[in-house]
Amino acid sequence: MKEPLKITFLGTGTSQGIPIIGSKHPVCLSTDTKDKRLRVSILVSWNDYNYVVDCGPDFRQQMLTHDVSKLDGILFTHEHSDHTAGLDDIRPFFFRQGDIPIYAQQRVSDSLRRRFDYIFTDANRYPGAPAVAVNVIEKGKSFFIGDMNVIPIEANHNRVQVFGFRFFDFTYLTDVKTIDDEEKEKIYGTKVLVVNALREEAHHSHFNLEEALKFIEDIRPEKAYLTHISHLLGFHEEVEKKLPAGVHLAYDNLVIEV
Ligand SMILES: [Zn+2]
Ligand SMILES: [Zn+2]
Repeated sequence: MKEPLKITFLGTGTSQGIPIIGSKHPVCLSTDTKDKRLRVSILVSWNDYNYVVDCGPDFRQQMLTHDVSKLDGILFTHEHSDHTAGLDDIRPFFFRQGDIPIYAQQRVSDSLRRRFDYIFTDANRYPGAPAVAVNVIEKGKSFFIGDMNVIPIEANHNRVQVFGFRFFDFTYLTDVKTIDDEEKEKIYGTKVLVVNALREEAHHSHFNLEEALKFIEDIRPEKAYLTHISHLLGFHEEVEKKLPAGVHLAYDNLVIEV
């Protein structure tokens, strides 16, 4: 029924992406395709279903690259622009399918409503504007996308509270700095874990590499992938060699089955 779950890494970069516009940093100048990272997002597919987690500014390019012709919904981790700025580009899906379901906590839904008021308005709709069907999700309450149950996992992104998602044996967390034990309990037993690792130096709102590896050691998944990566973490090939067994850097267009 639900298996195998196919996960496509649509983007694995931090908020500015890699390369950063105008940057002369060696990682930004790298010709290795694995050093080119769009803004962070994954496509979760099974049977005929396609859901994305987040919808950043590279959403259009990501949908084109992976030839996605039907989108069943968008799960939002939080409201930051690198996770939401592509929302207008749901238009082709909306024209073919009608209102696109979105799953977000109330605060995030309110923020989207302020920033994309023309998408959320009921009256005097601008011709050509897309529309969404809002599903408000809450801590401690699992929900369904298609025929799959999803467990939201609350984490802290400095002062912003974010949601990660557990889909059976697969858990996706990004923009995490700390996570409470009660929420961590919901992740144990996951076979594949994705978690953010920004760079080596500490950061106020993101796991650095050391914190991400410590977290993975605690959860003990069979496999772990790091995402939301800054150019400051270094060249993909070099960082990959330094990682413990079972832990990898994710890269754009990587596809895994869980
Ligand atoms: Zn982010
Ligand atoms: Zn963020």
